[in-house]
Amino acid sequence: MKTEIINENNKNVVKEAVKFITQNELVAIPTETVYGLGGNGLSDEACKKIFEAKNRPSDNPLILHISEVEELDRLVEQVPEKVKRALDYYWPGPLTIILKKSDIIPHTVTCGGDTVAIRMPNKEITRRIIRQSKVPIAAPSANLSGRPSPTTALDVYEDMQGKIPLIVDGGACNVGIESTVLDCTCEPNLILRPGFYSKEDLEIYFGPVEYDKSILKEGEIPKSPGQKYKHYAPSGSMEVILGNRYRVRDFFNQRARELKDKKTALITFEDNSDLANSFYKFYSLGSRDNLLEMASLIFRILRQCDDDGIENILCEGVEEKNLGIGIMNRLKKSCGGNVKII
Ligand code: AMP
Ligand code: MG
Repeated sequence: MKTEIINENNKNVVKEAVKFITQNELVAIPTETVYGLGGNGLSDEACKKIFEAKNRPSDNPLILHISEVEELDRLVEQVPEKVKRALDYYWPGPLTIILKKSDIIPHTVTCGGDTVAIRMPNKEITRRIIRQSKVPIAAPSANLSGRPSPTTALDVYEDMQGKIPLIVDGGACNVGIESTVLDCTCEPNLILRPGFYSKEDLEIYFGPVEYDKSILKEGEIPKSPGQKYKHYAPSGSMEVILGNRYRVRDFFNQRARELKDKKTALITFEDNSDLANSFYKFYSLGSRDNLLEMASLIFRILRQCDDDGIENILCEGVEEKNLGIGIMNRLKKSCGGNVKII
């Protein structure tokens, strides 16, 4: 199959994407978080193709993307008043909610479960595609399972070339890590996957919210199936270093000497850029004071490490606070738990 990349400003983009979605073919779509691998969310046939193209484990359910809050009503059993009011504030945006599903949701979307995950993305072109398709679009991240999520159309092309007919190029994603997943079927509501919105952000409109125990504590079993898999992993071996920035810097210098004959990459903030010459590759996470910049860059950098044939990766971690919780959740998975606190 030939994979075409079409720019979001091309006048035929919506028509082309809708054509494939209604034929139960897959289209990669841009969102503010990461690129999604989209298919007709009411079609078992289309959703099965998503699992095949990604090589996704069959017990990891999909998120349905909608263009209007009103669409929720036919997809779930009931929307609690509190949730309705809260969504007015957080949607469109990087928040996925979980509610009891209605009968029209295919088995393949929920992997047999009785709840469904739904989100309204904040990318105009993608909402137009959903609206004109007249169905919710099921869309997990458009990477091969296990690899870092794609944040540019070329990242998607790398993983999906020959497997899907169309990629909509909407530029680089500005949030860069996946949505916060909030389970609204229990009280207090539970964050199953941390993301752009933190517990404190969500509590403004949802009232008391808690993190699933597995997010902040090792060894707990996560409530969300997707959280238990090895994820976001580059090919090289990776170590995440966390602590006082000067001690971290000393550690980088020590590692530079130990690993000097290896293809080692250093991923750290701009203020350490003078260490670049001591490593095979240096990738900047931008300013230490701007975690959103780090979030938007991290997956692209990890994929670049693979493109550059990196054998060892040293990456500076961040404090687990607000957006830092979402970022560290991804980094811990990328390095298989190899985090050093110094
Ligand atoms: P992805 O779209 O690849 O970023 O993954 C979607 C995430 O949402 C995964 O971590 C899934 O396990 C999670 N998810 C989707 N549906 C449900 C659900 N009904 N209950 C709990 N987690 C879900
Ligand atoms: Mg994913």
